[in-house]
Amino acid sequence: MTESLKCISPVDGSVYAERVLLTGEEARAAVARARAAQPEWAARPLAERAEIVRRAVAIIGEANDEIVPELAWQMGRPVRYGGEFRGFQERALYMADIAEEALADIAVENSPGFTRYIRRVPHGLVLVVAPWNYPYMTAINTVAPALIAGNAVMLKHASQTPLVGERIICALRDAGVPDDVAQNVFLSHDTTSALISAGAFDFVNFTGSVGGGKAIERAAAGTFTGLGLELGGKDPGYVMEDADLDAAADGLMDGAMFNSGQCCCGIERIYVQETVYDDFVQKCVDIVSKAKLGNPLNPDTTMGPMAQTRFADLVRAQTSEAIEAGARALIDPTLFPEDGGAYLMPQILVDVSHSMRVMREESFGPVVGIMRVKDDAEAIAMMNDSEFGLTASLWTVDPDRARRVGDAIETGTVFMNRCDYLDPALCWTGCKNTGRGAGLSVLGYHALTRPKSYHFKKV
Ligand code: NAP
Repeated sequence: MTESLKCISPVDGSVYAERVLLTGEEARAAVARARAAQPEWAARPLAERAEIVRRAVAIIGEANDEIVPELAWQMGRPVRYGGEFRGFQERALYMADIAEEALADIAVENSPGFTRYIRRVPHGLVLVVAPWNYPYMTAINTVAPALIAGNAVMLKHASQTPLVGERIICALRDAGVPDDVAQNVFLSHDTTSALISAGAFDFVNFTGSVGGGKAIERAAAGTFTGLGLELGGKDPGYVMEDADLDAAADGLMDGAMFNSGQCCCGIERIYVQETVYDDFVQKCVDIVSKAKLGNPLNPDTTMGPMAQTRFADLVRAQTSEAIEAGARALIDPTLFPEDGGAYLMPQILVDVSHSMRVMREESFGPVVGIMRVKDDAEAIAMMNDSEFGLTASLWTVDPDRARRVGDAIETGTVFMNRCDYLDPALCWTGCKNTGRGAGLSVLGYHALTRPKSYHFKKV
């Protein structure tokens, strides 16, 4: 019996797309074709591979007007934001631009007696497992550098965004990547795990939930397959008493609510120095009360539905449990009559504590808890009191203080006076249950290649 996946649109609950999953045998055949095709791809000049990826980016850009509503239908992001092309392009082109330098041989000696150097060589076949929340940007983080470095790539995109994998791979092929070197695959979890357990891939980059990351790690156990795991977060903001409060409220509310809070590095909890707490909270309430929840295809909508009703229900449960335990909800529900099903109104909670699920577990939705703190020491303790470690966002005019606080925080990234952004020149990484590995930047190339040492004695 053929199995298929269905993309249920959060806009209206209709089936927006359905795709047949590969059988185990078909998936193994696809792996074999990719492996056979990879050496010829790796033998091409680096500049040629980078140029092909640049062309693919341009092809995606030309289709952006079609892609924007397609994204709204698949995962609910309002069309007014214009899709992801800007970030998609920024990341892919940056990685293309630094490839020559990042992948250059590391010369150790070139003398009459010896030539010694370290070369970066592609792993071979890389599996990219991508999530739906920023489906173009999360996928390209690995797809572009993996191909540029000379790997073959199989992309298993999320069932919520099946058209994205098709579009990315189609653009790469139209730009000149051989068919078997870049493949979009629709795989069940079981087939994915079975392939990984059989050692089908040389490297797997997984972006998604902690549960998914654990399943991938279990599947890879004993195969020595390299893994990059970019998992969940519960990212904090800390507003110091010297911060520009308008900028802090604007930045942190955007970080908490954009994409209906479905950002891996979205702001989920905020600590505010007690002397500026009341002002800051009022500014946040004023901003969030202006959000327009509704159909993402309507250009006035600023907040679309969450990708699935069950995601909205999880946030509703976390919020109501917190309120039962003494939290206060500051956003007036009568401003959001559209709330229901996948459509979830934004909420700000105060009088919260770390005993509440909403302050500990990932919400991945438009709710944020705000707490008072006395000083930096208390803020650091609160920010570190989490199983996650993706980013933290510090608001102050004092870079030295931000550096001191930043040094004490257990995260992959520390921001000052901004949040919720991936800079392709910096390493995207996390600690604790946020995962392991290095995406983007020079280090992203290191993750997608292996070192090979050359030690030649001249006689
Ligand atoms: P998810 O359920 O883990 O799904 C993410 C991707 O992994 C999808 O392609 C999914 O396929 C696949 N997947 C999940 N479990 C799998 C398994 N056992 N075997 C094979 N594939 C598996 O995550 P999500 O809820 O869609 O995405 C949101 C999560 O991603 C949040 O926790 C968020 O923080 C995290 N995230 C992290 C980053 C980062 O950079 N750290 C970036 C973006 C998102 P199906 O769709 O077919 O189930």
